Amino acid sequence: MWGKKNDDEKDNENIVVTTREPTEEEAIDIEEMRKEVAHLQEIYTAKTDLVSISAHQIRTSLSGLKWILKMFIDGDLGELDPEQENLMRKAFDSNERAISLVSELLRFNKTEDTGASKYKFEKVDVVEVIEQTVFDFSGEAHIKGIEVIFLKEEGVPRHATADKEKLRTILQNIIENALKYSDAHGKVFITLKKDGDFLQVSVKDKGVGISDEGKERIFEKFYRDKEAKKKEPVGSGIGLFTIKKIVEDMAGKIWFESIEGEGTTFFFTVPVHP
Ligand code: ADP
Repeated sequence: MWGKKNDDEKDNENIVVTTREPTEEEAIDIEEMRKEVAHLQEIYTAKTDLVSISAHQIRTSLSGLKWILKMFIDGDLGELDPEQENLMRKAFDSNERAISLVSELLRFNKTEDTGASKYKFEKVDVVEVIEQTVFDFSGEAHIKGIEVIFLKEEGVPRHATADKEKLRTILQNIIENALKYSDAHGKVFITLKKDGDFLQVSVKDKGVGISDEGKERIFEKFYRDKEAKKKEPVGSGIGLFTIKKIVEDMAGKIWFESIEGEGTTFFFTVPVHP
């Protein structure tokens, strides 16, 4: 490189690099280190698998309970008096929160280690992934009386270069938040547009919005806004932190626009498939 050398470059001038075979002692050390890394990787995989298996089992049990509680609330098992119905509704809501926490744990477990090598980049049909995700949340949206509307602009390409499951994680998180932080009987709009070499997805809600402090800190790990906590006491504050990393690892950007008390729109981009 031409020009003035910085301090690092000057230091590097004094380093002499030679190549030789490791001594017997060094070879043993290297072998020990390899074994240690392999052992740590085994422990890590075992832990991740344990969390995944347990969380799936817990979620299955909670989902079974959900339908029984719903049958009681709907009067399918006989009329309830107001006090019984009130208690059943509380049990139902609490069970719902537990389901969403376990779902988040599962997603986080899957995406916790988002090193570049963990991505499987391929041609992904973004429209299909959006439609599937909207379908996955249709039960939850229906219970809250919220309509989720996907608006596709004419002529927008539908394929991106991305990791399909990671893209699903991003959408799940943003759509789930839009439902969580909205009032009942609202509307959530999802759009897909082309923005240069990128596809831009937006999810707009008319929920609690984000405070001024939140606007600065929303992507920090564990941060939760005051109003959001009031609306939905159970939450982890790791979703946005995790998906920001994923969006950026896939060469995109994530941002939002929000007015406190009026609503929020989250945007993210993924590269269009050439
Ligand atoms: P969690 O939802 O579990 O709290 P997230 O990381 O997904 O965790 O979100 C972090 C915080 O960002 C939320 O607690 C909330 O304060 C805010 N937030 C995210 N999405 C929305 C939204 N659509 N409307 C209002 N606030 C939001």
